[in-house]
Amino acid sequence: MIDPFGRAITYLRVSVTDRCDFRCVYCMAEDMVFLPKSDLLTLEELDQLCAVFIRRGVTKLRLTGGEPLVRRDVMWLINRLGARLGHGLEELTLTTNGSQLAKHAENLAQAGIRRINVSLDTLDAEKFTAITRWGKLAPVLEGLQAAKAAGLAIKINTVALKGVNEDEFDALIAWCGAQGFDLCLIETMPMGEIGPSRAANYLPLSLVRARLEESWTLTPSTHTTGGPARYLQIAETGQRLGLITPLTHNFCETCNRVRLTCTGTLYMCLGQNDAADLRTPLRTGANLDAAITQAIARKPAGHDFDIRRPAVRRHMSLTGG
Ligand code: SAM
Repeated sequence: MIDPFGRAITYLRVSVTDRCDFRCVYCMAEDMVFLPKSDLLTLEELDQLCAVFIRRGVTKLRLTGGEPLVRRDVMWLINRLGARLGHGLEELTLTTNGSQLAKHAENLAQAGIRRINVSLDTLDAEKFTAITRWGKLAPVLEGLQAAKAAGLAIKINTVALKGVNEDEFDALIAWCGAQGFDLCLIETMPMGEIGPSRAANYLPLSLVRARLEESWTLTPSTHTTGGPARYLQIAETGQRLGLITPLTHNFCETCNRVRLTCTGTLYMCLGQNDAADLRTPLRTGANLDAAITQAIARKPAGHDFDIRRPAVRRHMSLTGG
């Protein structure tokens, strides 16, 4: 699958549910209305669609959400996809908030998952509950230890928020260093209405990097995971620091991704509205391959975020970051 800008699409992100057990303030509104369950693809249908994408050249799959581990029987899908490793699929990964990780870590490793991203914006229990609106830090920390014990490589994803967690980045770097985790900082993106404007908490990572360089020796690294992060090696800890900068540095020219939602809608860009319905061709037996080809032919050059207003109506929880 080659898009109009010559980019090969080899990475599919699959949001297996739009539901989440947290309500992170920068991600969702407090009174989110979720998709009716009747609109969802079954796990069998999600597996079928993934198989088509793998046949079409996708080598990396990331499961996300919502919170992927709250979807009932999600391990069935993970095991099915894991069985596709080595048969076209080269990597299966997961992005999770960690709340259910203690229960699932061992099974994830057994299914063939080697590394996961865990979202964690603070190490302060009270602040954690304030950011997630009702999440608890302790089960996430337990989940991280279980994942580590299961042999999973872990990257912590932290959304950088002005006035909320900007005083914690040094502590997070040190903690990740001690735990053997990589850390990735993310600029907050204007997706979906959340009530207050995101501009108040927006923190450009160019500024964060300059501040961190006063305390840490950061050397640009050639490391890549096939995602949008640019990596720096941290000399003092031996771990890496990733920066995802959709606002201060657009990375669309190397975009290799498309995003499938739990209703079978394919978004060709995180920051644009255009989408293709794959559920209808999947269910009617119409030409699914043609629908995918047409969608890839419409992949836009890139996103165009302005922190003052949502670029798209949907929240990140629909497409999963
Ligand atoms: N529930 C899983 C999790 O917490 O990782 C997967 C889905 S969550 C939407 C994926 C990532 O997107 C998380 O790291 C979250 O912090 C991030 N995220 C959500 N809304 C965002 C926004 N508006 N800007 C930047 N990152 C956002």
